[in-house]
Amino acid sequence: MNFSWKAMWNYKCPRCKEGDMYKKPFEFTDPLKMHKRCEKCNLHFEPEPGFYFGALIISYGISSWMLLLPTLALVLYYDWSVNSAMLVTLLLAGSTYFTILRLSRSIYLHVSMRYDKSLENSQNAGDKYDNTIF
Ligand SMILES: [Zn+2]
Repeated sequence: MNFSWKAMWNYKCPRCKEGDMYKKPFEFTDPLKMHKRCEKCNLHFEPEPGFYFGALIISYGISSWMLLLPTLALVLYYDWSVNSAMLVTLLLAGSTYFTILRLSRSIYLHVSMRYDKSLENSQNAGDKYDNTIF
């Protein structure tokens, strides 16, 4: 498997690790503005319509645990009031919203790309990867 945490965290292409997934510069009005294909290796970033619906589950999982654990720690361990803990939770949610939104798509794309070692000597680089999810 040709998986790279660094490429996933930096929103790079899962195949070549060089091309950017998202268009630059970042726009608040369209934070998920992606390239259709990788600029370096031509990998299709949306293999099928609705491909990134699965990223919602990843986003939900990350944000819920990331917000729940500090909130519980503040209330139960540090004896903060619930209102104060909720304020911190809302600030944390607001400040990490775009990062988690984009990161969940990156994680989903990187996890769903499988490297097929049997096709390693293929002339076409695209043959080496199975773009199906399961
Ligand atoms: Zn690429």
